[in-house]
Amino acid sequence: MTRIFNFSAGPAALPQAVLKQAADELLDWHGSGQSVMEMSHRGKEYMGIHARAEADLRELMGIPANYKVLFLQGGATLQFEMIPMNLLAGKAGADYVHTGEWAKKAIKAAKLFGKVNIVASSEEGKFTYAPAQKDWKLDKDAAYVHYTANETIGGVEFHWTPDTVGVPLVCDMSSNILSKPVDVSKYGLIYAGAQKNIGPAGLTIVIIRDDLLGKGVPAPQTMLDYKTHADNDSMYNTPPTYGIYIAGLVFQWLKQQGGLAAMEQRNIEKASLLYDYLDASSFYGNPVRKEDRSRMNVPFTLGDAALDEEFLKGAKARGMVQLKGHRSVGGMRASIYNAMPLAGVAALVDYMKEFEARVAK
Ligand code: PMP
Repeated sequence: MTRIFNFSAGPAALPQAVLKQAADELLDWHGSGQSVMEMSHRGKEYMGIHARAEADLRELMGIPANYKVLFLQGGATLQFEMIPMNLLAGKAGADYVHTGEWAKKAIKAAKLFGKVNIVASSEEGKFTYAPAQKDWKLDKDAAYVHYTANETIGGVEFHWTPDTVGVPLVCDMSSNILSKPVDVSKYGLIYAGAQKNIGPAGLTIVIIRDDLLGKGVPAPQTMLDYKTHADNDSMYNTPPTYGIYIAGLVFQWLKQQGGLAAMEQRNIEKASLLYDYLDASSFYGNPVRKEDRSRMNVPFTLGDAALDEEFLKGAKARGMVQLKGHRSVGGMRASIYNAMPLAGVAALVDYMKEFEARVAK
């Protein structure tokens, strides 16, 4: 068996140890004689898997007791709408920070429900940096402040937590959740689609402070109300059981790796290897301000875009796939989430050096 290095932005690579365990347990989970996929979500076995996944996530992220963890569906995209539906709470509007493609989608969705104040934007700088806190024009009457912790397409990451002086902070952490420790108590709500750093697509995680539950005005319809899911331990309807099981295995794997502080060190090491080479090279480029560069998604361009196809072909021949940049920006993008080993980044850098030496004569 040959495993490739998959640099996809999501669905993305999963830890090989997790896939192996899932394979070993596929037909007969722990002597139950059945696959997790086949289990009743109300049965003792699955309830145990579900509870352990939540407990391990709480432990990894240090989630305080006054926060609920919800296992939902519909992707981060549904959260773009559920957030204003549930959190505008009768107020006129909410504050949004505009940092690129994903912030833009969150803003567009929120406008369906209320007034959106763009309190900071990096648009004039072509979304190549994270706007400094001192430049945010916060409205103290805003229902909440929303920002995108990591712009998956632009490769811009906040390496600091905003201070919103008492207004609930809402964060799209889809592409950097679990990549480093975060202080959950600084947030009102954190959400993330699973398919990058958590598990398979189809599961969405929401972490919400409990005083924000049941505040929607008018109350959202049952399935769109966070309170429904909080009151029913994410089992109001059938949850995405297999996705939650795999996420649970990823959480166990993260604990075995030493937790989020250890992951952060590894992620710094991996990202530095790639950025140091990009900076040293006159052939490759990355437009993002150094202090705001993403450790998860590294976009880069070749000196000559006409060479893009050749670069991708050569990478594929060496077992490295999904390096093509997002269609909206072009160039290349290497997504190097938790499950990407240092060896994968090293192999990419070796190939980039070889390619540069060959074409940039
Ligand atoms: N936010 C960010 C930062 C993302 O990267 C993505 C997906 N790439 C989304 C939201 C949308 O997620 P989904 O496809 O799960 O709805």
